[in-house]
Amino acid sequence: MSDIYYLAVIGAGASGLVAAAVCSKELLKSKSNEKIVLLEKENKIGKKILATGNGKCNMTNINASANNYYGDIEFAENALQKFSPYDTIKYFNNLGILTREISQGRIYPYTNQAVTIRDILCKDVQRENIDIICDTCVIDINYNKLDKLYTIITNNINIKAKKILFATGGRPNNQKNSNNSIYSIIQNLGHKVTDLFPGLCPVLVKSPYIKNLKGIRHTGKVTLIADNKPLKIEFGEIQFNENNLSGICVFNISRLVNEYITYKTINNTSYKRLKISLDLCADYSFEDLYDFLFNFQSKTDIMGSELLEGLLGKNLSQAVYKSAFGNDIAYKKLSQSEIKTLTSKIKNFVFDINSEYVWKNNQITCGGVSIKSVNPNNFKSKCSKDIYFCGEVLNVDGDCGGYNLQFAFSSGILVGREIANDKNK
Ligand SMILES: Cc1cc2nc3c(=O)[nH]c(=O)nc-3n(C[C@H](O)[C@H](O)[C@H](O)COP(=O)(O)OP(=O)(O)OC[C@H]3O[C@@H](n4cnc5c(N)ncnc54)[C@H](O)[C@@H]3O)c2cc1C
Repeated sequence: MSDIYYLAVIGAGASGLVAAAVCSKELLKSKSNEKIVLLEKENKIGKKILATGNGKCNMTNINASANNYYGDIEFAENALQKFSPYDTIKYFNNLGILTREISQGRIYPYTNQAVTIRDILCKDVQRENIDIICDTCVIDINYNKLDKLYTIITNNINIKAKKILFATGGRPNNQKNSNNSIYSIIQNLGHKVTDLFPGLCPVLVKSPYIKNLKGIRHTGKVTLIADNKPLKIEFGEIQFNENNLSGICVFNISRLVNEYITYKTINNTSYKRLKISLDLCADYSFEDLYDFLFNFQSKTDIMGSELLEGLLGKNLSQAVYKSAFGNDIAYKKLSQSEIKTLTSKIKNFVFDINSEYVWKNNQITCGGVSIKSVNPNNFKSKCSKDIYFCGEVLNVDGDCGGYNLQFAFSSGILVGREIANDKNK
């Protein structure tokens, strides 16, 4: 172990691993003997990468643009401009990893295994002049003006470093926000941290039908509606659970839902009511679906909900039918206007949104260190000398589909270079 490190990287996740490796390589190029330490509270580095993309790691998305991000978008805008998804692919190619596009620009390692990405990033830092210390949680940081050094206090050792990079990711789900959380340390160093809320997660809904729908997966269109205005539309597999809706299409609207629950506004606009509308037959127009239901009426003697089983399956069909008419009615007895009502229900099955969220099963944390405290051009603190940030700890988050890892990699690589270059300043 070194007495004084040039850089302490806190957090050995996606962004911290690439930042440490890049910084070390750049320092070597300039023939520097300065050392880096990588501090990780888990027992192994890069653990979280294993869980990404359902174990396959959706590492970037070639369609990524600022439109896929929320919060202080300038962080993502700058990062993507200087280090694009194609740069990310090239970066991994240079480490020996081939990639493939699965769909909608989503890039995965050719092996389809997250462990490939985790292992290659771990090997890369292990080859460098970097001390890697696991099982070590940073609990406080002090700055000494005399020697211009930071003392990093952890649960087992104290470390001195000239520069600190926070690559600490989001708020852990298994931990209450205590005073000792990394966000408090960042705030104590003078930085502004916005409110935090979960993103890319299930959305809790209020509905008399949801319990009976548990376990159903149905492909359709999800629209987030605020005061009758559609705010975001997503297509995909909707998963119905005991008290929530889930699936990637729901994850992609959860950010706005939880922003509303936190601030009562979305994108600084106030709304009175938020709801989710499901189009359960999105491939058919209202007219085509109505014609199908109307024409079938003369041919059958069945109960109404039974008819819908052919479109929606048993439980979903009963729920839709009940919400339209209360009780199941013989299909033949429905009037033309009632068939229209039924068609509307299928195309616009509405769920009210619960007024709270849970920190559980969220893929990301929304909110974080504000652009008021961090320069988006170089990820350097505007408040404290020699402090830097990268990845999810910043107030920026992306849609589901490789956008969050892209930001972790691009911000990590850019800040790694920046820190090495700052040696000469
Ligand atoms: C289940 C799941 C699936 C996902 N799938 C995808 C996907 O396929 N594609 C995609 O783009 N994104 C995905 N994400 C999101 C993505 O994983 C994150 O956005 C990304 O990992 C953020 O990288 P990071 O380096 O900023 O933070 P992290 O990867 O979270 O790393 C932060 C590290 O800091 C450590 N740390 C925190 N506090 C301390 C402390 N006080 N002391 C020491 N160490 C500390 C943590 O233990 C952790 O190792 C997924 C997330 C989850 C949970």
